[in-house]
Amino acid sequence: MSDLSRPEGPRIIAVANQKGGVGKTTTAINLAAALVENGSRVLVVDLDPQGNASTGLGVDDRSGSTYELLVDEAPLESVIQETGFAGLSIVPATVDLSSADIELMANEKRSFLLHDALRQTAMDAFGWDYILIDCPPSLNLLTVNAMVAAHSVLVPLQTEFFALEGLSQLMLTVREVRETANSDLRIEGIVLTMYDKRNNLSQQVEKDARDNLGDLVFRTKIPRNVRVSEAPSYAVPVLSYDSDSTGAAAYRALAQELLRKHSRIAA
Ligand code: ADP
Ligand code: MG
Repeated sequence: MSDLSRPEGPRIIAVANQKGGVGKTTTAINLAAALVENGSRVLVVDLDPQGNASTGLGVDDRSGSTYELLVDEAPLESVIQETGFAGLSIVPATVDLSSADIELMANEKRSFLLHDALRQTAMDAFGWDYILIDCPPSLNLLTVNAMVAAHSVLVPLQTEFFALEGLSQLMLTVREVRETANSDLRIEGIVLTMYDKRNNLSQQVEKDARDNLGDLVFRTKIPRNVRVSEAPSYAVPVLSYDSDSTGAAAYRALAQELLRKHSRIAA
């Protein structure tokens, strides 16, 4: 364990917001790719039955998935797949995962299954620096599994009307997880997504967020950029689809901000 940048193995970050369409999957994929570009080893765990992160990274072979990992308690190494983005691996998701909530109800470890899979496996063998968990648009058992497994929660916040509504419910869930299962769970930060600088509403939401949430809000904002929304249909991160786009630049800046924050914490 000589690597000072990750004294306790990989940093596990749950990308969560119970609202759909706010940029969770986009952020998980592209932040992961930007961290890989920076020399980090990264695993994405797709915890949404819709499997958008899996499709968006070109993984169609779902022979092993988060369903097997949680419900069958399959070993982590049996469900990891390589993506088309060199250095980026994924545990994909299938629609099977949509029934996991019910299937796991009787399992007394039900909230700890992802924790046990990620934190208790001999993680050093993989050498990951970051694990990003793409959560479903709900505060269900899957999201709770992510929060119990994670060191921190990263919250994409779409800069639109009612953006801040629902945040208090999310924070309540974080508090409950802290009190019951994972006392060290932190808020990694809130990232403003789909920001349109010509739109007064975007600016107003940014002001509200920074006034209310202060340093929790990342300085980096992700602009609304059509290249970002096109990239998944080519099954690659925007960083390789259009490396010079404003979206790619923003996710690179977000990765830098995250890395700077962690090097400060480690120092
Ligand atoms: P979630 O995972 O929270 O449901 P997604 O990441 O799937 O949200 O994003 C919802 C939709 O918005 C997708 O079609 C995605 O391509 C699009 N989108 C996300 N971020 C951006 C952006 N910065 N610019 C343009 N479109 C975006
Ligand atoms: Mg999603």
